[in-house]
Amino acid sequence: MQLKKGIDKMQLIQGTGKLHEECGVFGIYNNDSHDVARLTYYSLYALQHRGQESAGIAVNNGNTILYHKDMGLVPEVFNEVVINYLKGDIAIGHVRYSTTGESFRENAQPMVIKCRGGQIALAHNGNLVNAAEIRNRLEEEGAIFQSTNDSEVILNLISRYWISSSTIEEAIQKMMKDVRGSYSLVLLMPGVLIGVRDPFGIRPLCIGKLDNSYIIASESCALDVIGAEFIRDVEPGEIVLIDKNGLKSVKTGNGGKTSLCIFEFIYFARPDSTIDGASVHISRYEAGRLLAREHPVDADLVIAAPDSGVTAAMGFSAESGIPYGQGLLKNRYVGRTFIQPDQGQREIGVMLKFNPMKSVIRGKRLVMIDDSIVRSTTSRRIIQMLKNAGAKEVHMRVSSPPVKYPCYFGVDIPSRKQLVASAYSVEEIREMIGADSLGYLSLEGLLKTPLGAKCGFCSACFDGKYPMEIPADAGKFSCG
Ligand code: 5GP
Ligand code: MG
Repeated sequence: MQLKKGIDKMQLIQGTGKLHEECGVFGIYNNDSHDVARLTYYSLYALQHRGQESAGIAVNNGNTILYHKDMGLVPEVFNEVVINYLKGDIAIGHVRYSTTGESFRENAQPMVIKCRGGQIALAHNGNLVNAAEIRNRLEEEGAIFQSTNDSEVILNLISRYWISSSTIEEAIQKMMKDVRGSYSLVLLMPGVLIGVRDPFGIRPLCIGKLDNSYIIASESCALDVIGAEFIRDVEPGEIVLIDKNGLKSVKTGNGGKTSLCIFEFIYFARPDSTIDGASVHISRYEAGRLLAREHPVDADLVIAAPDSGVTAAMGFSAESGIPYGQGLLKNRYVGRTFIQPDQGQREIGVMLKFNPMKSVIRGKRLVMIDDSIVRSTTSRRIIQMLKNAGAKEVHMRVSSPPVKYPCYFGVDIPSRKQLVASAYSVEEIREMIGADSLGYLSLEGLLKTPLGAKCGFCSACFDGKYPMEIPADAGKFSCG
């Protein structure tokens, strides 16, 4: 096959820089006798899939904010001594996977600052598209920044607006008028826990209750783990303030157009979470069923690229009547392939992570399901493995459409060059990954899968239709 369109195949396969990023946020306002840092720790554990690079917790202790954050997984960053030190009545926490190449401690969250209005700790999931522009303006006015992430821009704006506002919610509303992009925030101040979701609702955020204590979390699975009850999602554009008087909501308008990231349903979120009224598990299962209808194939066994393809593979199997089997074993002690910031390590990562079950797949015609193909490294390696292990045929089915456009809202794809589908046709990709056939779920089909969802979706990575204008320097600063 002739490789064309000015993209070097090796560059695509090996790539440069980082590809994806997400973050998880959590907050709790204690009205009982809970150990807030410990509960935050458990919930961050449940949100670990959203970020494995750094973790942090901040608590309000009297009128002081105590915090601890560091690079690493939740159990690496925290131990008994640290949790015992973090005594307080309100806590927020964050797990992060970075973008823009900066993976150092200054960028770990929560960010804790002191300003005229008082102390604030912030945890942010999302990405502002106009952070560079705002930051330049603030720097020209003499502002100093300690990190390279866009969350510090949010804090800077809040601090400024707080001077001329009578309440913190007024300052937050002014900040929301300046920033554009995705942000699900939790903020901690002495006496108050605040949750904020951007007007498009691009990233998820929900409210829960444990006894009389309020919780705000990226995903409902973080509530389940501590036995808290799901109350509702934070609405797009909503500011939720929790203090000794209970919960207060301030709604800011956006004309009602919402754009929850559809990739949350495809990949990011945990299948046991429910977002904006739709179950992630059911959505993935439906995607598998639709995929079987859109791209049927004669085969002996349906297998999944674990774990991200498992739910869709079960749906594919149910719809097609082809039995589902475990064709690849996943080493549970290896994190996501993308933990390694460097592509060379990522390649080894795939082999470290998966091993084919020879006795299951030998001589079989397989349908292999994965949730997405981004660069194509994963599928190429897996198909090679399956064939080496004796699979007769490997038909790849993908439970989302071809990823063709970069995301500026928290899935950091630095350039279209790294997206295999932006330059190659389905047939060319099939050949590159060595599959006997390849079929992607249609966008039309995908958008039907979050059954019962009470929101619209952003599907810009598939169709290039961004919910807002994207400045040329978008993504220069980001947090996750
Ligand atoms: P690729 O085609 O780039 O080699 O990788 C595709 C695989 O990466 C799929 O199995 C999918 O589950 C996973 N993936 C897709 N998007 C993301 C992301 O944003 N972050 C991480 N860590 N993995 C992703
Ligand atoms: Mg995967």
